[in-house]
Amino acid sequence: MSQRQAISNFASILDSPIEYLKGVGPQRGDMLRKELGIGSFGDLLYHYPYRYADRSKFTKIAAINQDSDFVQIAGTVININEEGEGRKKRLVATIYDDSGRIDLVWFQGAQWMKKSLREHDKYIVFGRVNVFNGVMNIPHPEIEPLNSETAIPGLQPVYPTTEKLRAKGISNRSFAKITQSLFEKIKPGDIPEVLPLNLLSQYQLCNRYNAIKWIHYPDSEEHAQAARYRLKWEELLASQLKIAQLRLQHTIQPGYMFEKVGEHFNNFYNNFLPFSLTNAQKRVLKEIRVDTATGKQMNRLLQGDVGSGKTIVALMSMLLAIDNGFQACLMAPTEILAHQHYQSIRSLLEKMHIPCAVLTGTTKGKERKEILAGLASGEIPIVVGTHALIEESVQFQNLGLAVIDEQHRFGVGQRARLWKKNERAPHVLVMTATPIPRTLAMTLYGDLDVSVIDELPPGRQEIKTVHRNEMRRANVMEFIRSEIDKGRQAYIVYPLIEESEKMDYESLMAGYEQVKIWFPDHKYRIAMVHGKQEAGKRVRNMERFVSGEAQVLVATTVIEVGVNVPNASVMLIESAERFGLSQLHQLRGRVGRGAEQSYCILLTGNKLSKESLQRMKIMTSTTNGFVIAEEDLAMRGPGDLYGTKQSGVLKFKLADIVADSAILEQTRQAAQQIVAEDPSLTAPQHQGIRNILLQEVKENHWGKIS
Ligand code: ADP
Ligand code: MG
Repeated sequence: MSQRQAISNFASILDSPIEYLKGVGPQRGDMLRKELGIGSFGDLLYHYPYRYADRSKFTKIAAINQDSDFVQIAGTVININEEGEGRKKRLVATIYDDSGRIDLVWFQGAQWMKKSLREHDKYIVFGRVNVFNGVMNIPHPEIEPLNSETAIPGLQPVYPTTEKLRAKGISNRSFAKITQSLFEKIKPGDIPEVLPLNLLSQYQLCNRYNAIKWIHYPDSEEHAQAARYRLKWEELLASQLKIAQLRLQHTIQPGYMFEKVGEHFNNFYNNFLPFSLTNAQKRVLKEIRVDTATGKQMNRLLQGDVGSGKTIVALMSMLLAIDNGFQACLMAPTEILAHQHYQSIRSLLEKMHIPCAVLTGTTKGKERKEILAGLASGEIPIVVGTHALIEESVQFQNLGLAVIDEQHRFGVGQRARLWKKNERAPHVLVMTATPIPRTLAMTLYGDLDVSVIDELPPGRQEIKTVHRNEMRRANVMEFIRSEIDKGRQAYIVYPLIEESEKMDYESLMAGYEQVKIWFPDHKYRIAMVHGKQEAGKRVRNMERFVSGEAQVLVATTVIEVGVNVPNASVMLIESAERFGLSQLHQLRGRVGRGAEQSYCILLTGNKLSKESLQRMKIMTSTTNGFVIAEEDLAMRGPGDLYGTKQSGVLKFKLADIVADSAILEQTRQAAQQIVAEDPSLTAPQHQGIRNILLQEVKENHWGKIS
């Protein structure tokens, strides 16, 4: 049986187009497809409710308060009126019971609603309480006539939906109804078990049919929980299996052998290393040396807090590659960072006469041609660049090591593309300054071995961090001036979270004008960099700051990662409340790189939300990147951390890698065991889970990896 047949056999009735389902039809089917991507019976089955409302209870209207979330009330509807004009037009009705009254409001579908409601009739209303100008109402409630036939269910599923669907009358209730008619059609055999049976008993998981049935129609709280637990388990197991397979693939893949520590490495170590390595750096280098000498391909994650000295480790690893007759590349996430790495590497290597080039998206014409030729012939042994390096047109004579700085900007797929740059996959060293919480690392980088630099170079002073509000601005500016007058440099950073946000851009420009007043140009030089600048200009402005010509750098978060100017001792972050914790930590890491006492000032508005205030407190109380990363993960959830949202790696329907870390751990162990026994999942008991993986590969991101 081909893989394809396996899937379609397994899915058959679930493959039926959604419009064939009772209660759907062409129009609704079309809407469901467009709005939620539900195109088949199966898709509907896997459109899980995200919570349940306890519909066995009614709330008295008088008991509703501003903290009420979803409520169910029973009462009589009166005063059905259209209010407002044009776009503000809405339908308002009042419902009362024996305790009080509250308004119901429809902004969309008002016409349709108006026709279906009758004054003085009794209804059951279910919805979320909203407060507008101090008055409570219930916008877009679910509403149905209260009569002897109205069944009052217990736990009612609440489905993710969209405004458009709701406006077309596809309410939560309709979802429940069509799902119900779907369940009338399918038999347990249509939803076969996919997990090996021993796992079901070992981890006390309910079977798949029950899980899917109960997640839609839990007959009790226990069953609802059992269903979610089981489905999360399946989801996380699938992701851990993929990681385990990738990992296995690395370890069986033959790699290049770096047999010796040669002339370049030793020469550099003995004569040109500008400081002595920390013990942590030495240990990591040794791990890399051992790893690259095994004959297997290295895939290693190097974690080290900002300023811990990862660059030198990267450079010395690259020398190791050259000593063994290979080329090496270093890939950075931004143009600025690529140039900065290039400069520091070039100056370190200058006296050793090792050619080195920089290649980015803006390298054009003759220069680009020469570099490409040099890489293809092997004349250029070391190249630094951006993702331009992984383009098809960049060919190496013999690439042996690829270092990726600040991995979280790169997708997993991009990493995999590097493997194709030589006959065998080159060794890969991924460096990240973001200490990654363990659960996240297991999900994102579970296929990598991990090295940690857990020690800062000696003589570093802890960065002093303070939180100030707008009223203290003058004070802050004076302080920065006094630092500059001592010969130091300062960063002033503005939030520009979306480079396209016009308002942010304007506030950056306004800020720049302000800064000019504080730092008049007869005495100070200011450089500015931001994402809207043409890349060449951005790099030049940055260089003015790096060289010390400019004392102040006004910037957006383009400087977030990696930039290294040891003489800079002040980091002022404007509108700090708009940054996430990890981002603040990254920014702060730009200072404290020299011997001087450094400062980070978080400037915010006077009024802060509770969360923002908490973020500021965490920042001023610790400089430990690990603590901060954990807090960040807990506060924000993994979704938008580390740019993983786009890459889709963390897209789980139900599982949450923070809250479900216990399941994550279980599935990781199970996955490792399964893959060790049956690497390609060909054993009969693994067919089900294999099908799930195949289907996912078909549907999304993981296809990019292999
Ligand atoms: P990161 O890990 O954030 O990339 P860098 O590699 O940029 O850190 O190093 C930060 C600074 O520390 C640089 O100025 C670098 O030269 C310096 N540095 C690195 N290792 C040492 C060391 N062992 N002793 C002293 N200074 C070091
Ligand atoms: Mg760095």
